Amino acid sequence: MRGDLNDFRKGKCVVRISSIDQKKPGAVQGKTRGLSASPVCSRKSTVRDKHSLDRNLGNQRVMRMTAQRTPISPRIQRDPPPAPNPCPDGIKKFDVFGVNLPGSTRNLYNDEAKANTVLAQCCAGINIVGGESWDTTLLDLQAPHGSLNEFKSMASPTAEETTMLAHAPGGSVIHAYYVPKMSDRSRGENFRPSVNPAVPKAVVVSDTAAVDTFVHELGHILFDVSAHHANPDNLMASGSIRNEGVDNITATQCGRI
Ligand SMILES: [Zn+2]
Repeated sequence: MRGDLNDFRKGKCVVRISSIDQKKPGAVQGKTRGLSASPVCSRKSTVRDKHSLDRNLGNQRVMRMTAQRTPISPRIQRDPPPAPNPCPDGIKKFDVFGVNLPGSTRNLYNDEAKANTVLAQCCAGINIVGGESWDTTLLDLQAPHGSLNEFKSMASPTAEETTMLAHAPGGSVIHAYYVPKMSDRSRGENFRPSVNPAVPKAVVVSDTAAVDTFVHELGHILFDVSAHHANPDNLMASGSIRNEGVDNITATQCGRI
């Protein structure tokens, strides 16, 4: 027996959900497109019927919510979490002042990028605080002229080296002296007060230097080591075996900075 909505409100009717039949008079269209709810009355309708109605409408609500849920495609590119900061304490910069001696063709700026790339492994880098083209005759103090006479032991610098180190226009920062050549054909050398208290922290770079000679010599200062590393891939390997351009630094070496 079909009834009207007034009967339904009085608890006398149940509602049956069926497909929309636009032509059927009295059909109550549900919110879910394509469904309609028609009140059907019965003499046996009780309050329990209303509860059945609630359950039916509730089921329809769940169906509607399920239908509206957008499936998650595995192809969706999610925004990845940020990579952990490798240098949470920032980059430790070491001030360096460049001095070019007569005849040299390289300069500190040629070595800046390489040094910063290599030292980034230790969250370190250099900061060029100034430079100078020094007009001096010190390379002619001792034979052979035109080249820096280099030490056999850091404890005993040559007269040319002592004169050179006394010229420190950058003050107390690390100086990088660029020379055209060195008497024993070395590509570079370093000075450290931890080895000889009479010398400042300084590096020498000749025109024959490799791309990583400057940062290798600086490594002797920053890591405060004299011995060379046995691994050719290490920055502190001797120039005779070092794979230039690899320049790995170990965590232990970084820990010495
Ligand atoms: Zn070395």
